[in-house]
Amino acid sequence: MKKIICLLILSLILLAGCSKKQEQNAIEKIIDRGYLIVGVKTDSYPFGFINKKTGENDGFDIDIAKYIAAELLGSERKIQYISVTPATRIEAITSGEVDMVIATMSITPQRAYLIDFSKPYYAAGQTALVRKNSDIHTFSDLKKKTTIVVLGSNAERNIRNIIPTARIIGYKNYDDAFNALLNNKGDALSTDDTILSGLIHNNKKYRILKNRISKELYAIGIKQYDDKKLKNYVDASITRMLNEGKIKELEKKWGLK
Ligand code: GLU
Repeated sequence: MKKIICLLILSLILLAGCSKKQEQNAIEKIIDRGYLIVGVKTDSYPFGFINKKTGENDGFDIDIAKYIAAELLGSERKIQYISVTPATRIEAITSGEVDMVIATMSITPQRAYLIDFSKPYYAAGQTALVRKNSDIHTFSDLKKKTTIVVLGSNAERNIRNIIPTARIIGYKNYDDAFNALLNNKGDALSTDDTILSGLIHNNKKYRILKNRISKELYAIGIKQYDDKKLKNYVDASITRMLNEGKIKELEKKWGLK
């Protein structure tokens, strides 16, 4: 009998140990693992791109990831980068493939049903890129034209809402979308002003429309955990970056504003 009681107590202790592991929160998991897994862009200069000289991920969003990793894990190098696109980034978060997404992602009510957003760290605006000699000057000029978008972007959604008659062709990423514009597959490429300026920073044959049809508030996307510990941690990091002037410093570094 004593033996059975001992065994029972032992298994209860073991079970308690196991459930404690399951209760490990998202921050503890990251610390245990020793590195952050961050979904980033590789086609959106200057926010997320591959630096040709170093072959490494680089950009404004990558610098934000580095700041968080340095605070949480003591080194900005403790990051595994996963390349995401507008169509893949939500699932990368909800499936747990990444700890967070920092990828020119705007806060939208539809996305907020599926994921948590940190507080915003940057404000962009949607506009469009056209050939220099194009007859397109405003968004209403797009009515009878073909607009290129990246699938899953807020830009795609906004264009469909604002100009329901517009012909739209979608691509998976900004490299393909810009190539389509270069190859005259469409008349305009619409997305955030930040990304469009990045696409033409070496190319003077295109111009960006003056109007902005939306305000795109960039925030970090995080899985909807009940305890919100990771979201609160990330919010506190962003608050510090804003207060310490780190965001201003990054805007200067990457030629924004
Ligand atoms: N910021 C917009 C969005 O979240 C467009 C940029 C992008 O495609 O990442 O959809």
